Amino acid sequence: MNNFKLGEKRPLIISGPCSAETREQTLETCVRLAETGVVDMLRAGVWKPRTSPGSFEGVGLKGLAWMAEAKRLTGLPIGVEVATAKHVESALEFDVDCVWIGARTTVSPFAVQEVADALRGSGATVLIKNPMNPDIDLWAGAVKRFAAVGIPLENIGLIHRGFSFFGHQKYRNAPAWPLAFEMRSRFPEMMMICDPSHMAGTTEYIHELSQAAADLRYDGLIIESHICPSQALSDAKQQLIPGELERLVRSINWRRGWNVLCAA
Ligand code: PEP
Ligand code: MN
Repeated sequence: MNNFKLGEKRPLIISGPCSAETREQTLETCVRLAETGVVDMLRAGVWKPRTSPGSFEGVGLKGLAWMAEAKRLTGLPIGVEVATAKHVESALEFDVDCVWIGARTTVSPFAVQEVADALRGSGATVLIKNPMNPDIDLWAGAVKRFAAVGIPLENIGLIHRGFSFFGHQKYRNAPAWPLAFEMRSRFPEMMMICDPSHMAGTTEYIHELSQAAADLRYDGLIIESHICPSQALSDAKQQLIPGELERLVRSINWRRGWNVLCAA
């Protein structure tokens, strides 16, 4: 692990498919994203913790091999979601640059502790998504578990992906921005990355949420992209094709002297 250093690039733009599905889909998506020139890290889920059994649960180790190939082809660092010690072991074997903890894992102190113990001494970069439920202490507790196994705070980042609430809402997961501000005030040195894809749930709201995050001085975005979103095996409604991703990223005004990405 680790030719990638969190904090060296702001805004940090992470993109890739929700799930690695086939070698072709993974490589084509990743290569096209790299060609946009606006993506700093490639993502894909290879183990998918699904709310309902029977949904696509990821391709496992094969997907790690495809992501490692995408890294060789593009020169970009790669990130995957991990939820168990075994996932961590495999991710380290495949030279993954960054792992993230999904919202369904951050809710479970036992799972977080297992992942943290597996990462001890690895030099890993870890991004921690907010838990499904709006509980800041649970999110902060996960950060503390990684810090307690010796992962330096500068190698830990936060991903705000919104919270699950009862009843119909505009977004799939409510941003509840004040909760993320509270988290930032507890860990002011930590990168805060917005995940407008999982907040929005559909492509139509991704731009407004991304601009809101930039206005609120977030440090980056993680946005899902797929070469053929309507055929995606997970999160089909919220994935952008690489060209749309590029246009979206270039249209964001970061208001912090970071507008190198903006179209002229
Ligand atoms: C994902 O990033 O594909 C994912 C499953 O996200 P979350 O944990 O935010 O639901
Ligand atoms: Mn997803």
